[in-house]
Amino acid sequence: MWFNLMKIKKGDTVLIIAGKDRGRKGKVLKAFPKENKILVEGINLKKKHQRPRRSGEKGQIVILPAPLDASNAKLICPKCGKATRVGYRFGEDKKKYRVCKKCQQEI
Ligand SMILES: [Zn+2]
Repeated sequence: MWFNLMKIKKGDTVLIIAGKDRGRKGKVLKAFPKENKILVEGINLKKKHQRPRRSGEKGQIVILPAPLDASNAKLICPKCGKATRVGYRFGEDKKKYRVCKKCQQEI
């Protein structure tokens, strides 16, 4: 449905509200609206074995963030700085704006 959009976008700062990173904050690096998942800087880190790029090189273990469910994160409003729920409002230009449910400002 059209309103079933993901409310968190790339570049947002989110507060993690569930899981092992609960209480931590991070910046959204990528959003996956179809899966309702987000990739957050420094959150949900997973070890990955990276294959050697050239033969003779050793593979190495790198630590990278893995996508997590967007429902485990809450947007931090850049206007009021609170973890908030997001609402939508239609402007006079018929465009849809994201608004903070706490301070009612466009975000
Ligand atoms: Zn706000």
